[in-house]
Amino acid sequence: MPRFTDASPPDSCIFCRLIAGEIPSARVYEDALTVAFMDIGQVTPGHVLVATRRHAATLWDATPEEVAAVMQGARRVAQAARAAFDPAGVMLLQANGAVAGQTVAHFHMHVVPRHAGDGIDFTWPRQNPAPAVLADYAERLRAAL
Ligand code: AMP
Ligand code: ZN
Repeated sequence: MPRFTDASPPDSCIFCRLIAGEIPSARVYEDALTVAFMDIGQVTPGHVLVATRRHAATLWDATPEEVAAVMQGARRVAQAARAAFDPAGVMLLQANGAVAGQTVAHFHMHVVPRHAGDGIDFTWPRQNPAPAVLADYAERLRAAL
């Protein structure tokens, strides 16, 4: 199976440079394992990225502790976004690999405040396979755990 490869070593990774303070960012929160900052694109007001402090390209490369810290940071930012922007909902989005929509090869979670009619849309092509197919997929995953 083709794997997403990290084409951005830390010295040329835009998020590593941002975290090192070499390029500007509007920081929201940081701790030992994570840094949270405003996404430059602001799909909705309050759109934040929570990234690992260490360079890890994807979920496959981050440690369990880093992944947990990013999720905890996302929860904390989502709580703050609720108070600061009064959204109707909040969406967490985390892409791994270009095929999944990842454009910056440094592990990060989007925290996106959501409002009715905010223009965000996804194509979600349901396949609705038969139960036997679901059982086969589950068996393949259990065997790989
Ligand atoms: P993804 O497609 O999940 O890899 O998202 C990468 C995100 O990084 C995009 O939403 C960009 O707007 C954002 N981004 C890229 N460069 C910067 C930057 N210098 N500061 C803040 N956000 C950035
Ligand atoms: Zn990096």
